[in-house]
Amino acid sequence: MRNKILQIEKLINKNEIKVISVDVFDTLLLRTTQPELMRFKDFSQEQYKQITLDNSVTRDELYFARLKVGRELFSKAKREGGCYEVTYKEWMKTVLQGGREGRVDDKIVQHCLDIELALEQQMLKLNKSLWLYLETLRSRGHKIVLCSDMYLGAKSINYLLRSFVGADLPYTTFVSSEWQKTKRAGSLYRAMMLELEVEAENVLHIGDNWISDILVPSNLGIHTIHTPRSFSWGIVHRIRAFFYRFYVNYKAQI
Ligand SMILES: [Mg+2]
Repeated sequence: MRNKILQIEKLINKNEIKVISVDVFDTLLLRTTQPELMRFKDFSQEQYKQITLDNSVTRDELYFARLKVGRELFSKAKREGGCYEVTYKEWMKTVLQGGREGRVDDKIVQHCLDIELALEQQMLKLNKSLWLYLETLRSRGHKIVLCSDMYLGAKSINYLLRSFVGADLPYTTFVSSEWQKTKRAGSLYRAMMLELEVEAENVLHIGDNWISDILVPSNLGIHTIHTPRSFSWGIVHRIRAFFYRFYVNYKAQI
């Protein structure tokens, strides 16, 4: 991270940067190498344990329903090309509804969310050197914002960050699920610049994803710094994800 901080420092000194936008997951909050599908299974198992569900639903069925609904909603988001994004509420309500009549109580959805946030807290780690550096930049007068493509809302993201830094971060959070715009399509960056009344040449975005954090904002004229996870992290993550997806597909067929 030290080299990256030097790169950021150099870029800020050479350009008139007013806003520093930072990706959240795997940039400011670091995940373990656990694949996403495995994380969803942990969520579903805990939700099944804590929430009294219809007896006709098994623990595995709840998990596979989450995957199926997620696949459908994220395919829709992809097709819409930055005009729609999945929200946690829509996702979980559809899963819990399960094609049945009646309404799913918002309190149950909130309970599911609380369970996930508690588990997320245990799985995440703060990128402390980046956070300390951002605080230095803030004290020098730079505006720091968070910019994330995520089904969770800003409140949930801030809750996760608060558990690591002990207080609410004074950073505005631009999250795709609330703006119904995405980084990967560029629409969230455009909305952020409009909202903050800032030109692309005065914005720096920092993130781990080569497409949505680097290529897309660069094409909009935004300065970028790529902070990918380590090579070994990437290899272990990909191997685990490959085998877990294989296992999930096998389980889904039996
Ligand atoms: Mg990321």
